[in-house]
Amino acid sequence: MGKIAFIGLGNMGAPMALNLVKAGRELAVYDLLPAGVAQLAAAGAQAAPSARQAVEGADIVITMLPASQHVEGLYIGEDLLAHIDPTALVIECSTIAPETARKVAAAAQARGIAMLDAPVSGGTAGAAAGTLTFIVGGDAGALARARPVLEQMGKNIFHAGPAGAGQVAKICNNMLLGVLMAGTAEALALGVANGLDPKVLSDIIAKSSGRNWATELYNPWPGVMDHAPASKGYAGGFGTDLMLKDLGLAAEAALATRSPIPLGELARNLYALHSAGGQGKLDFSSILNLYRKS
Ligand code: NAD
Repeated sequence: MGKIAFIGLGNMGAPMALNLVKAGRELAVYDLLPAGVAQLAAAGAQAAPSARQAVEGADIVITMLPASQHVEGLYIGEDLLAHIDPTALVIECSTIAPETARKVAAAAQARGIAMLDAPVSGGTAGAAAGTLTFIVGGDAGALARARPVLEQMGKNIFHAGPAGAGQVAKICNNMLLGVLMAGTAEALALGVANGLDPKVLSDIIAKSSGRNWATELYNPWPGVMDHAPASKGYAGGFGTDLMLKDLGLAAEAALATRSPIPLGELARNLYALHSAGGQGKLDFSSILNLYRKS
């Protein structure tokens, strides 16, 4: 088993990397912020002083960064690709624009390095439990090489198509998630304003035709689900600004193909309003605060 370099140890990257350490992998880790690095070092990973030093001698490089500009900035802007062994495999797990994924994969390919876009679904709970869904774009041979390591962080692995296809599928999923979370918040706020208990209403919806991922696993009303970010002051989880980014990616993809996404655009505006109100760093289920009267 060769060395894995893991860069980006935030809400998702840290628990994903921890699962690799627990599985006995040799890991070199790096993040711009010290908190994630310290957590991984305490678990037995090697703390690298820079991304370049992390990837030195690595057979596999995994990145889990916020957005397109961070991924392109690191691999191309900072020329990290020049420091990666041509026999190494790069697994890029961030949710970014498909064209950025294709551009970085082509730059890797030009150096003989195989690269996959492998965005994930399942949230921080899925990352911690090792039950993520990986939605992969790229070469089938590269995916076969990646599979053993992906299986140590996730449960479901889909090959969506060539480079960038993983990102297209992920963007479609997250646009639907953004719509469903806003709709769930709207329905719960309506019920509570009309005298219902949010827990009772949530239990009813969870067993009725309005049920969805939010009502089953990630209820936006504080106190309904102990483990959900809503019950922890909307800390951790999936940031409102990251959801806003994903809805922006959906809008760009829609424009490029003249696809109508009226609900996706409405959701994008709701999260933008919410972020502009100073709640961009809170978990995206805090969109409930736009609707809640008390
Ligand atoms: P996060 O902001 O918590 O973590 C990102 C980390 O990347 C931060 O620790 C940051 O310091 C680090 N970073 C940024 N630029 C860097 C660089 N050049 N070198 C090293 N480190 C750098 O974000 P997150 O919630 O972990 O999400 C990461 C990605 O996963 C995003 O693209 C997001 O859309 C996606 N995602 C998140 C969730 C979720 O529930 N949080 C679920 C699925 C997908």
